[in-house]
Amino acid sequence: MIPTNSLTSDEYPDSSINSHDNRPDKPEEACGVFGIYAPEQDVAKLTYFGLYALQHRGQESAGIATFEGPHVHQHKDMGLVSQVFNEAILDELPGNLAVGHTRYSTTGSSRKVNAQPAVVETRLGLLALAHNGNLVNTVKLREELLKDKFNLITTTDSEMIAYAIAQEVNAGADWVTGAISAFHRCEGAFSLTIGTPEGVMGVRDPHGIRPLVIGTLDSQPLRYVLASETCGLDIIGAEYLRDVAPGELVWITETGLESFQWHQKSERKLCIFEMIYFARPDSLMHDETLYSYRMRLGRKMAAESPVEADLVFGVPDSGIPAAIGFSQASGIAYGEGLIKNRYVGRTFIQPTQAMRESGIKMKLNPLKDVLFSKRVVIIDDSIVRGTTSRKLVQALRDAGVAEVHMRISSPPVTHPCFYGIDTDTQDQLIAATKSVEEIAKQLQVDSLAYLSWEGMLETTREDTNSFCSACFTGDYPVAIPEKMKRSKLILEKAVV
Ligand code: SF4
Repeated sequence: MIPTNSLTSDEYPDSSINSHDNRPDKPEEACGVFGIYAPEQDVAKLTYFGLYALQHRGQESAGIATFEGPHVHQHKDMGLVSQVFNEAILDELPGNLAVGHTRYSTTGSSRKVNAQPAVVETRLGLLALAHNGNLVNTVKLREELLKDKFNLITTTDSEMIAYAIAQEVNAGADWVTGAISAFHRCEGAFSLTIGTPEGVMGVRDPHGIRPLVIGTLDSQPLRYVLASETCGLDIIGAEYLRDVAPGELVWITETGLESFQWHQKSERKLCIFEMIYFARPDSLMHDETLYSYRMRLGRKMAAESPVEADLVFGVPDSGIPAAIGFSQASGIAYGEGLIKNRYVGRTFIQPTQAMRESGIKMKLNPLKDVLFSKRVVIIDDSIVRGTTSRKLVQALRDAGVAEVHMRISSPPVTHPCFYGIDTDTQDQLIAATKSVEEIAKQLQVDSLAYLSWEGMLETTREDTNSFCSACFTGDYPVAIPEKMKRSKLILEKAVV
């Protein structure tokens, strides 16, 4: 059973506003990973808090595995981090090092058996693996593993990576060379933390599609921490050191941190959606918080698609930084137009028919007197299917606004993701089949504008080639096998 009431909305993705429908109307982040080597410290508790800060990256299951010499202690279950663990459970997880995981299922069904870390046995002892991302060559990898009679007990690609490492280690390799050989057999997105009896590894795929950062604890000797985002370091007082580079493996043991560039042709293609929406606004990417980047997106939108209006506000919480930026650049007053129900978690109870019709008010309630007779600009980070946006606009109309102008701080989402983000099949993406004018009509807004693709990338102030933006362009940095493509690229299949 999954309790329903222990997460505040600040920790919870905005997708939950569409709670009448089990399919969220936002792309869903896949996972958060954490790793730590610190024999002098309570590694289970530090991992717990790291995962607690990474909760926005996955809310279906959580797990921690600690290593006490060759022995592994683990606990994983369905639910939020705060529901899966308590003091008594953490006390049962002693050890020198730990890895942890929060999961939202993108491959494999949402079942306890698929909760991570995935623990497998090898010639050198057990390993525990936590994965963020998605492999695209699972069919081939699975065949290779089944030939070796590995007993795959879950349906996740993460378990396959763990077994591929076991296969290499069992053939005689040490931990690092075995892992590197296994990673060369994996294609797709993988940011990993891996626990072994000797130490912890942090790994990113050659494109660095999902983030992974290294931090240090204020300790003697110096101890290292790995987390999907810097917010996972901040919460335990760890200092951000640097990112794990694309195609890099860091090996953290009693003697410190060693780096191995395991893939020589690495080329960074960080998921741009991490910057726009997925990662927490207080996380650092490229030496600034994502809050700052998202504010700049708002300024860019104001320059690209100005409009006359009385009030600008964001869809809480992810649209707020861009709304502030839009206000600063346009001179239109910033205010709150929607109040989010901040004191409840996800509900699994289906609402009544009447509630369904009011849909959006489950989580977002318009401030009627603030909005009445105003021309408003509402800022959101993306539109996927458009069902939530449509309800939101209706709620604003019901509150008496004079005009609704919608601005989206990313380009139209026209393609599904294969790298660890749960988007709908292509035919479900509103922008894959409709023009901006048609979408505006469907949402019943007075005007609608998306940020340009160029604007989104230029605003990063980084090399614009160093990002994956395939869900806006269909230009996938890692080739997708035909069969997998057909599962989601429904429209393009029809064209072929
Ligand atoms: S396809 Fe989109 S969501 Fe997926 S990794 Fe690329 S930018 Fe991110």
